[in-house]
Amino acid sequence: MKNQFQHLFNSQQAYFLKELSDSPIKKRLKKLKSLHNWIKKNEKLICEEIYKDFEKGEEEVLLTEIKPMIDEIKQHYAHLENWAETKSVSTPLAFLGSSSKVIYEPKGVSLIIAPWNYPFNLCIGPLVSAIGAGCSVIIKPSEHTPNTSNLIERMVSELFDKKEITVIQGDVEITTEILKLPFNHIFFTGSPKVGKIVMEAAAKNLTSVTLELGGRNPTIVDETANLKDAAQKIVWGKFLNSGQTCIAPNYIYVHESKAEKLQEKLIEQIEIQYPKSDKTKTKIVNSIHFGRLTDLLDKTISSGGKLIHGGERDENFNFLSPTLISDISIENPIFQEEIFGPILPILTYKKLEEVIENINKTEKPLALYIFSKSRKNKQLILNNTSSGTTAINETTIQFAQPHLPFGGVNHSGIGKAHGKYGFQEFSNQRSILKQRVGFTTLKTIFPPYTNFKKKLIRFISFRL
Ligand code: NAD
Repeated sequence: MKNQFQHLFNSQQAYFLKELSDSPIKKRLKKLKSLHNWIKKNEKLICEEIYKDFEKGEEEVLLTEIKPMIDEIKQHYAHLENWAETKSVSTPLAFLGSSSKVIYEPKGVSLIIAPWNYPFNLCIGPLVSAIGAGCSVIIKPSEHTPNTSNLIERMVSELFDKKEITVIQGDVEITTEILKLPFNHIFFTGSPKVGKIVMEAAAKNLTSVTLELGGRNPTIVDETANLKDAAQKIVWGKFLNSGQTCIAPNYIYVHESKAEKLQEKLIEQIEIQYPKSDKTKTKIVNSIHFGRLTDLLDKTISSGGKLIHGGERDENFNFLSPTLISDISIENPIFQEEIFGPILPILTYKKLEEVIENINKTEKPLALYIFSKSRKNKQLILNNTSSGTTAINETTIQFAQPHLPFGGVNHSGIGKAHGKYGFQEFSNQRSILKQRVGFTTLKTIFPPYTNFKKKLIRFISFRL
């Protein structure tokens, strides 16, 4: 049976070849400018629609959904010309007479699939990179945030011809159908489980993929850390968006001599940053995820975890308060999962080596956090673990540092996003070698292989 999106795909492909494949940078920047203006003009509306989806407060929407998009566009304004510029490379002696360069060409028709937790940011961020690179795009936003997805669809239809950029809304069935099309690139943000499905579908067409996946992000607090500072930053990074953040600390590993003090400071910080009187409380996105989290909390406690703060739930609003659990062992089920909600388990350790060993027994995380004043400890952790991103004495803000690549490693992701790195994901780095006509040094080693040529080949083969 013919794919219901084939016609749309064909029209994007034809438009790409005719209008986009060598579109000037100025034209791309103009499109980004109109996107910027739309976001600026409709800031209130964006906040309102995201609020309807999961009651996220305006300040958090500004900080995590709107500002990063404006910054991403600004980055393109400042650097796109340079990223897209043809780069000459040097010529080795054996290639004398030739010249070589790398040109950045847009990959072509691209698909962006986004999750629900930052529903605007995670659609528009990759879209900015795709426009910067000169691609045409189909966006598939999350079905779990319908108000934001409708708004994105409206925005895209007001700004772009659907032959260039369009939105298809839908659930798993629709996405499965879209994934059958032979895209030139797929940029997927979501869970590792669905990431594998996307990669399998992409493999059928040998489509390149960027996979921005999830992770169980370890947060290590050693015996030298400033506990008040660590608690402030951990509480902020963990409970932002009610813990529904891919780079939120998943669990804390604290040195046993500091565990009690850190727990006190974390509770103090939760009371300061999330007072009970605060009316704007980001809820869990839907009852399925709310049920998953409350079941996990119950299971964690029945497996030996001790509730030391929070745990209040309101199923009418899918709300779970910031929750701390101590006495967690690595056998506790919560240690094995990406929590993706406002529950923070705390483990203790005696020796840093045991922490490193346990981190390395599990999949490589998207983010790893170190709170320490010891250069030796920081280096030991960095040298002996792997993660997509790492922040030292900080949490989560590495996402917003526009000059850093953002992404995971293996199970937490493939490929990188943001700024230059996002541009490169949607670009083919095409290498061009231009040779002179007539005599070239390379011709001196063409067959037949005389004794002289044999010696010459041996000489050039082993010369360092
Ligand atoms: P998800 O993987 O369930 O869904 C993501 C997208 O895939 C949605 O658009 C959904 O419609 C689609 N999808 C779901 N099942 C599918 C299937 N069987 N076939 C094809 N498409 C399918 O993820 P989610 O629940 O929306 O988001 C949470 C996950 O995303 C977490 O694991 C989180 O860590 C991760 N995440 C990662 C990043 C990052 O930048 N690395 C950012 C945000 C979220």
